[in-house]
Amino acid sequence: MSDDSIRPVPQPGILDIAPYLPGKSGAPGSNAIKLSANESPLGTSPKAMEAFRTAAEHLEIYPEGSSKILRTALAEVHGIDPDRIVCGNGSDDLLHLLAQTYLGEGDEAVMNRYGFSVYPIITKAAGAKIVMVEETDYTADVDALLAAVTEKTKVIWLANPNNPTGTYLSDAEVRRLHAGLRPDILLVIDSAYAEYVIAADYSVGLELVGEASNVVMVRTFSKMGLAAARIGWMVGPAHVVDAINRIRGPFNVNLPAQLAGAAATRDVEFNARLKEHNAKWRDWLTAELHSNSMRVVPSQANFIMVLFPDAEFAAKAFETLRERGLIVREIGPSYGIPEGLRISIGSEEAMRGVAGILKALVKIS
Ligand SMILES: *Cc1c(COP(=O)(O)O)cnc(C)c1O
Repeated sequence: MSDDSIRPVPQPGILDIAPYLPGKSGAPGSNAIKLSANESPLGTSPKAMEAFRTAAEHLEIYPEGSSKILRTALAEVHGIDPDRIVCGNGSDDLLHLLAQTYLGEGDEAVMNRYGFSVYPIITKAAGAKIVMVEETDYTADVDALLAAVTEKTKVIWLANPNNPTGTYLSDAEVRRLHAGLRPDILLVIDSAYAEYVIAADYSVGLELVGEASNVVMVRTFSKMGLAAARIGWMVGPAHVVDAINRIRGPFNVNLPAQLAGAAATRDVEFNARLKEHNAKWRDWLTAELHSNSMRVVPSQANFIMVLFPDAEFAAKAFETLRERGLIVREIGPSYGIPEGLRISIGSEEAMRGVAGILKALVKIS
């Protein structure tokens, strides 16, 4: 007989974590267009697909554990020392490893209020406390972040540009944030949308990583046509790379992903086309929607956040789009912005569809 009242118990805090809520998809078999997860509207680099297929010939063999092929390609294209790169099973893998390595019981991590919803999960999973800091008009506020630092602070999580708001901090602002931190606090710059930024005063964070001993930059292939392959990478000082390499899964990036990632990195033509398409339709959709009834927060990412007069209006907009086969992202439950929707930049047809439906909805309301 087993006594059900005695059973394995998760570590303190684990059951207080709200699970991550992914963007919705259409019903299986429906041809709904998904604009809820910031995926590529131009598919995958053909070169990456070809590389992925060649890996099918070697599935019986363990992948090389340090993702050398991928690190070499990244080092070449971005001008980085390959020894300063760690690859992961999505950048999610690396964010978890950073939390596990630098946070524990009694520690605090600081983030802006509408920052990426994975940060509270990984912070609490490591036994630490997440400190949420108010923003200024949906943008991270450097003074407020610095004011929230205590002697318990060990990590600052900063998505730049940020998801789900699309806003960014200039290089000068990120440097001001870094300059105000004690050297034992790790600044994690999550540049998941770096490939899409046009703003001239933006920096992806690589220079700061090179100059400081407490800054890491995290990147992903997910928003560039390879979300299914799960590939992320980070660049950091040697001592951080060494610590992460001690605890990461020994074969954390599979062979098809390593080969596809390396090919995608070198396919600069495809990446440029994606960036150009995104900038064009991001600007177009922003101009179409921005009005008295809908506010579009200026975005540097591959999505826009639209703010409606109230939560009810946003819910109606979500439903109306969904009925017409366009699935966007609700940001009430996971981000506390119930009057907003996040809309990924998709194909021309999808963008024209979204604009037409929302403008008609505003007119009749
Ligand atoms: C999408 C996203 C990621 C990427 O996650 P993956 O695990 O690489 O798919 C990381 N950070 C932010 C801010 C994101 O929006």
